[in-house]
Amino acid sequence: MWDRFRPQVREAVQVALETLATAEATSARPMCCGQPMRRHDRRPVQWLTWVGTVQAPVVRYRCPGCRAERRPLLETLEVEPGQPSGWLARQLGLLGCVASYPLAAQLASPLLGVAVNAMTIWRAVQRLGEAAAQHTEALGAYHADPRSPAPEATDAPDAVIVAVDGCTLGMQVRATRRRRVSEGDAPRPALPPVTEGHFREVKTGVLLRPVERVEVSPGRHTLVRRVLVTCLGDADALFTRVWARLREAGWLGPQTVVVVIGDGSEWIWHRATLFVRRCEILDFWHAMEYAWAYARLQFGEGARRAEHWTRRVAQDLKAGHVQTVIARLQTLRPNSPESREALDALIRYYTTHAARMQYDEYQRLGYGIGSGAVESAHKQVVHARLRQAGMRWSEVGARRLLALRLLLLNGEWAHADQLRLVRVAA
Ligand SMILES: [Zn+2]
Repeated sequence: MWDRFRPQVREAVQVALETLATAEATSARPMCCGQPMRRHDRRPVQWLTWVGTVQAPVVRYRCPGCRAERRPLLETLEVEPGQPSGWLARQLGLLGCVASYPLAAQLASPLLGVAVNAMTIWRAVQRLGEAAAQHTEALGAYHADPRSPAPEATDAPDAVIVAVDGCTLGMQVRATRRRRVSEGDAPRPALPPVTEGHFREVKTGVLLRPVERVEVSPGRHTLVRRVLVTCLGDADALFTRVWARLREAGWLGPQTVVVVIGDGSEWIWHRATLFVRRCEILDFWHAMEYAWAYARLQFGEGARRAEHWTRRVAQDLKAGHVQTVIARLQTLRPNSPESREALDALIRYYTTHAARMQYDEYQRLGYGIGSGAVESAHKQVVHARLRQAGMRWSEVGARRLLALRLLLLNGEWAHADQLRLVRVAA
């Protein structure tokens, strides 16, 4: 049915475009260097829409001063010659944001009825992703400026939880330039062994209100509403974004306690001081990992005693007895240099973070004790699309794709319609 009418719809679009082009040809000339630009030529331009390829005669203007060229009709329509229309580019960008570029190109045919290649998907993601990334940055800059008025926070919660964590992303080795179309998608058997310098950390924050931790079954919590924030590499930028999103959501009232949950990473605790009224929580599971590392060395992998011993640590920590645990750890006699080392690390970790380990208190206040929310966020934001086998990313490519995935995962894909597609280099 649709296949029968598609040519007719394309025809109608074509007629509308010609009307638009005729009107545009008689409208005022654009300005440049303080004077109207000169009409240079008027040539047909083709591009791809949902209903097929269309074309329109497009006037090109040139500035007699600086030689700059403009084609206002293409700007209005967000069209790049030979490329998808603005609407189609957004749909292709959406596909490229959930599937690898070659796979997204294959999906475009049954879903949208258009035949495109991976390069076209890549380009749509770059154009839309750059727009999304710029928007995020602008929002961060706005709220970081003390002169910017905050949106109303009359209904601000008593507490808001900010769970923060980082995960690594394989970056491209820039020794030789590869075809960009396969960026992050094709397996790359020819890559040299990856060393540490070729990884960057994607830092993610999950923002939610304690009331939204709904108990679906005893001990299991499911989140109803959350806001994700992410950033490639820069911890300051992440916290700028956390701050901006908290203000945007109206969650940052004068009395709101910001509950920061994270692992032992210093970058988290240094920046947490941004929030004057805050509660710092060391993720309980990270705390337990250190206990397990010692127990495995001391009692042996899979030993009953190891399990018994760590269970007792967990119980005491949950009861808020971190100082008792530390005191007990100090009396232990490790049976090998390795377990001595693990024990020292464990004692150091608990001593450093003791103030962030008042787990009984956090439970009582409804803050939770773990950063499980951010770990599942990592899986959705990063792993599901950017950490498939053999994927390597360019800095800018990863940044744009992350910005798009956040729009999608935050349920804000509709914003993509308001973003003006950015022109990117081929
Ligand atoms: Zn000019």
